[in-house]
Amino acid sequence: MEKKPIIYACSIHVDMAIDDAVNESEAAPEVLKVQSEKCSYCNEEAEYQIKL
Ligand SMILES: [Zn+2]
Repeated sequence: MEKKPIIYACSIHVDMAIDDAVNESEAAPEVLKVQSEKCSYCNEEAEYQIKL
């Protein structure tokens, strides 16, 4: 069974992260608020985690 990845995204990159997640899994991802994580795209403070 494949491990489900988690994408972290700041408010700027959350749309991009959701698009990537949908492309990857072809299902609606779960989007949760997070703190103390870094955006996967720009390394700024992440506001969301996107679970595939
Ligand atoms: Zn970002």
